[in-house]
Amino acid sequence: MTQEKWGQLRQRLLKTVGQNNYTTWIEPLEFSVLRDGVAVFKVPTNFFGNYVSQNFADLILYELNNAGEAVQRLTFKVSANSVERPTPPANPTPKPVQSKQIDAVGELQAAPLDARFTFDTFVVGKPNELAHAAARRVSEGGPVTFNPLFLYGGVGLGKTHLMHAIAWELRARQPELNVLYLSAEQFMYRFVQALRERKMMDFKHLFRSVDVLMVDDVQFIAGKDSTQEEFFHTFNALVDQHKQIIISADRAPNEIKDLEDRVQSRLQCGLIVDLHPTDYELRLGILQTKVEQYRATYPGLHLADGVLEFLAQRISTNVRVLEGALTRLFAFASLVGREIDMELTQDCLADVLRMSERKITVEEIQRQVSDYYNIRMSDIIGPKRLRTFARPRQVAMYLCKQLTSRSLPEIGRRFGGRDHTTVMHGVKRIEELKLTDGQIAEDVEMLRRALEA
Ligand code: ADP
Ligand code: MG
Repeated sequence: MTQEKWGQLRQRLLKTVGQNNYTTWIEPLEFSVLRDGVAVFKVPTNFFGNYVSQNFADLILYELNNAGEAVQRLTFKVSANSVERPTPPANPTPKPVQSKQIDAVGELQAAPLDARFTFDTFVVGKPNELAHAAARRVSEGGPVTFNPLFLYGGVGLGKTHLMHAIAWELRARQPELNVLYLSAEQFMYRFVQALRERKMMDFKHLFRSVDVLMVDDVQFIAGKDSTQEEFFHTFNALVDQHKQIIISADRAPNEIKDLEDRVQSRLQCGLIVDLHPTDYELRLGILQTKVEQYRATYPGLHLADGVLEFLAQRISTNVRVLEGALTRLFAFASLVGREIDMELTQDCLADVLRMSERKITVEEIQRQVSDYYNIRMSDIIGPKRLRTFARPRQVAMYLCKQLTSRSLPEIGRRFGGRDHTTVMHGVKRIEELKLTDGQIAEDVEMLRRALEA
């Protein structure tokens, strides 16, 4: 393969991975040589190579083969002259809404806070009252009593909402405090960037100078060894200085696979509270609140009796889906200029309702897919990486994402404890293949029909 060809292939990857991933992870890859089915790339650090290998190798392999290069494997070698790395990556974080910048090299910025995610708009019910109370307590900014506060719960149950609410409140009450909110992914990104640009001292200094550190979706760093290591040190340094740390994750610390013991036990030292799946009352409460908020802008909005109750009854446990349904309903109603009654609701939300009613299970999908491809179910779930198993596995993951309301981490867990990024990757992969590979498109369609029948 020529350098030029790699240059063209890279452009195709840009489309699938997105600009930020591209600039950070793909562009710096230097194609070295292709020999005996092994493509060798030069990378700036080991960590970098591992990350690309875990997250993008399949995709790169796919593109290479798609372009007629017979490649079975990729290897990444740390390049000797990595000091001369070209352009640093663009900063993926949008400008913060309102954040104090700790500006030594102008790089540590908090992630933006969503203006809608405040305590005012958070509806409290049985399933989340404990989490809410704990969040309220730390947001008062008094002496640190539990450290860290660890919030966990399934997708769409309000973790990020609560985190932002804490940050808003702290900023309002104590503007002098340095509150840093960011996702674990951003933490890792900054860490890698510091490594690449040889600015580790700055990185350490900056992170250790915050007063309140908030890290969302910490499960993301499981299995990412050097990031965990750095997180652990940052964490310890802040705890030693009695600085408040607030963490969220999609499951309890001891349930996060590939999280080092010492990190786990550190996380368990504080207060751990979980957000339970919503119940009917909470869902109804959330819907009513949203309708009121909406009415403030559109006073003419009219809802027939029973519509909200129907939705609260019928739509899953995930608040995000519930909200999405309501927004769609409003949009649709204003478009057709009709009152929102049961009939309109059923029409407009047919697919959402069908999905929560059908309840196709992950097991069902795994069984159907393994039957279809004539392999064992254990091979779909198991660790084998052979293409004969990997592709059906990705098809099954894709169908799980499409046909069930399971989150990516939940799906990953049911596929032998895989990481949610693996699932996401599989899903994207199939989405792409569906467009370029008629056979895959047909397989997926057949399976979908069989499952929905
Ligand atoms: P998570 O981070 O747990 O996946 P989010 O915090 O992003 O979930 O919540 C998903 C959506 O549901 C957000 O729009 C959020 O405002 C809303 N939401 C979740 N729980 C509540 C609640 N108790 N009251 C009001 N809105 C909620
Ligand atoms: Mg979240």
